Amino acid sequence: MDLLADKKIVVASHNAGKLREFADLMGPFGFEAKSAKEYGLPEPDETGTTFEENAYIKAFAAAQATGLPAMSDDSGLCVDALHGAPGVYTANWAEKPEGGRDFGMAMQRTEVALQEVGAMEPAQRTGRFVAVICLAFPDGQAEYYRGEAEGTLVWPPRGDLGFGYDPVFLPTGHDKTFGEMSAEEKHGWKPGQATALSHRARAFQKFAEARLGSK
Ligand code: IMP
Repeated sequence: MDLLADKKIVVASHNAGKLREFADLMGPFGFEAKSAKEYGLPEPDETGTTFEENAYIKAFAAAQATGLPAMSDDSGLCVDALHGAPGVYTANWAEKPEGGRDFGMAMQRTEVALQEVGAMEPAQRTGRFVAVICLAFPDGQAEYYRGEAEGTLVWPPRGDLGFGYDPVFLPTGHDKTFGEMSAEEKHGWKPGQATALSHRARAFQKFAEARLGSK
């Protein structure tokens, strides 16, 4: 049985940047993709210690609440010189004591941590964005699709496109940071195209190949 036959899916995210990217990615497949926010669902606490656990918490909560298949992504930036930090805590590094998030502060915190370990040369500042997409069903079944984008952390931040840590991430083989790339350059991928650049687009590509019948 095709579990996605109704072409209805809940995107279990409240993050405006991610929702925009998912809307772009789902567009070509004719899915009705409404967000957890549009269903008025609360944001569950991300209590997992892996991207997979957190992606499941978000997707299953939305699937259970709506009775529809739900997809979520849990993502983050893993810096080698920082033993994989901020990792699953990437969003938390942006939390302000008074509430709300400040990604300028989060990028600065990452830079201070890199300077503290003496990582000043590009070769010492390698890392990757990771995205794990979880597709969960109301009965608790789940599938996972992982995408990674390798790169180097630069300082100072460059560009004001994208979101989150985009301005400090220089993807390998490119001379623009994610913050200097258009949405199309960062995650552009269409059915039939060989590669996507961003971690989320790469994870989405695996999901689409497995579930949406694309090549
Ligand atoms: P979560 O997946 O909601 O836990 O949040 C992951 C965090 O990682 C986001 O809040 C962003 O700060 C960061 N992040 C994930 N993907 C990207 C990206 O494509 N660009 C910039 N930052 C990202």
